[in-house]
Amino acid sequence: MSIQIFGLPVSRGVAIGRAVLVASSRVDVAHYFIDASQVEAEVARLRRARDEVAAELIALKQEVPEEAHAELVALLDVHLMLLHDEMLTDATKQWISERHYNAEWAMSAQLEVLARQFDEMEDDYLRERKADLEQVVERMLKAMSRSAREDDDAPAGSLGTRDFGGEDPLVLVANDIAPADMIQFKRSVFTGFVTDVGGRTSHTAIVARSMDIPAVVGTREGSRLVRQDDWVIIDGDEGVLIVDPSPIVLEEYRFRQRQGELERARLDRLRHKPSVTLDGVNIELLANIELPADAPAAIAAGAVGVGLFRSEFLFMNRGGHLPDEEEQYRAYRAVVEAMNGLPVTIRTIDIGADKPLDRMSAHSTEHQTNPALGLRAIRWSLAEPEMFGAQLRAILRASAHGKVRLLIPMVAHPQEAQRVREALAIACQQLDAQGQPYSQVELGAMIEVPAAALILPSLLRHFDFVSIGTNDLIQYTLAIDRADEAVSHLFDPWHPAVLQLIASTIAQARAHGKAVSVCGEMAGDPAFTELLLAMGLTSFSMHPAQIASIKQRILRADVRSLQTRLPQVLEHEAPQEACAQWLVMSTAR
Ligand code: PEP
Ligand code: MG
Repeated sequence: MSIQIFGLPVSRGVAIGRAVLVASSRVDVAHYFIDASQVEAEVARLRRARDEVAAELIALKQEVPEEAHAELVALLDVHLMLLHDEMLTDATKQWISERHYNAEWAMSAQLEVLARQFDEMEDDYLRERKADLEQVVERMLKAMSRSAREDDDAPAGSLGTRDFGGEDPLVLVANDIAPADMIQFKRSVFTGFVTDVGGRTSHTAIVARSMDIPAVVGTREGSRLVRQDDWVIIDGDEGVLIVDPSPIVLEEYRFRQRQGELERARLDRLRHKPSVTLDGVNIELLANIELPADAPAAIAAGAVGVGLFRSEFLFMNRGGHLPDEEEQYRAYRAVVEAMNGLPVTIRTIDIGADKPLDRMSAHSTEHQTNPALGLRAIRWSLAEPEMFGAQLRAILRASAHGKVRLLIPMVAHPQEAQRVREALAIACQQLDAQGQPYSQVELGAMIEVPAAALILPSLLRHFDFVSIGTNDLIQYTLAIDRADEAVSHLFDPWHPAVLQLIASTIAQARAHGKAVSVCGEMAGDPAFTELLLAMGLTSFSMHPAQIASIKQRILRADVRSLQTRLPQVLEHEAPQEACAQWLVMSTAR
């Protein structure tokens, strides 16, 4: 039976594929694809784990004291029977051989399937056997994790980064995907994502958008209603997940998929067109990137530089070992060289809140009661002077290979600016002492805390440029956790307070002769292009995939006429309505 599940649309387009469910919170296992050549070895690993668990259960049976209740022996017999049941082992083998899941993933996928069948049983006794099945699977998973620890060659367990031999497109359905896992999907087989939790500007959603594949978050129940291998449609425009669609619905969505492809091809033609408004204002379109490997997409999309390199993604999935100066230098240099003379804005590590480092790390933010308000971003860097110094030196060294700008996240106090300047001066001295070449880099502040916007003139004394991080500016102005779907309806970029802070930041930066850009998600959202232009913004930074549609709006805009209407919008109680009216007028032109 077909069902529709509603969530938040976070990355446009339509994906159609088989569900790869990573929903089980019962057991936390590694998920990764294996190569075809590894199938036999993986099945053998499964068999070994089964034999080991069988031996364990038989030994337990023998240890049951005479006087113990006969039920205990009967229970162990049930576990042995389940262990050898072909519904468990044969079907698990099939996930390995047909879908190329690793053994643990295959086992937990099959547990998911069987658990649902048990839930649907009418007989109470049989239904309750689900708990036994879970215990048997848990034993198997433990046996496999022991064997993986003994085996040095065992993969680290990341999802979706392997080549996959299957034919059907796959979409990932999960309760939650951490930004650290999400970043690994950049080169993965998945053509769409769905998660139960998350908001529009959660970092999971941001990475999905950067991959330009359809995604829906905040479905709440999605991962519980989808079964492994179900056919699903992800409608990333409307925020809908359709499970087991009827042929007619499938046909309609295939049609929409084709329309989307045609639209993209049409927008692609704008790639090399200069980004100039009707009244001749040049608008700089920059790229937001997460990894050095994203730089070619920025060039291909026609970006004139990188406006935001979120360097913290280099620090994720590291098993607690952070990249040292040399490794960071190589990564930054790779971006600078790939951008071939175009400016690269490297943001210092913005760790914390919904971007914790690996659980294993000593720097984990998990214990913090309110990480979004805690030791995040520049606060964390200033608390870790060695790490910060290494990052500054690495960035400075990369500046010897091209134009580099340094961007500091979450600045709120002028003293932070002073401490950054001091740290920078020390890093320069150290490089001088080592004879390492570097160039002068401009220093910029992210304006993403209302306090920073309100004291902008005093911050501007310390910084060469500013970049408005609207994602956090909205979160902190409205006191709405950007990653929490329960309050996502209150995360409102149109809120008059947010718009006033953005407008005044742009106006004041310009009045002080300092460069200003927007690098939050609003910059890549066509609904805000005219408004930001009217506020005087001439530099937008966004995911490469968004550049063409923003350019299309810029080419049709007349800044002078938009500016005359700006006060009406900013003074309006419902700015979105006021803006919609001028858009009707400007698109009618
Ligand atoms: C922002 O807050 O708008 C921003 C660009 O930074 P991030 O999304 O990485 O917090
Ligand atoms: Mg931010």
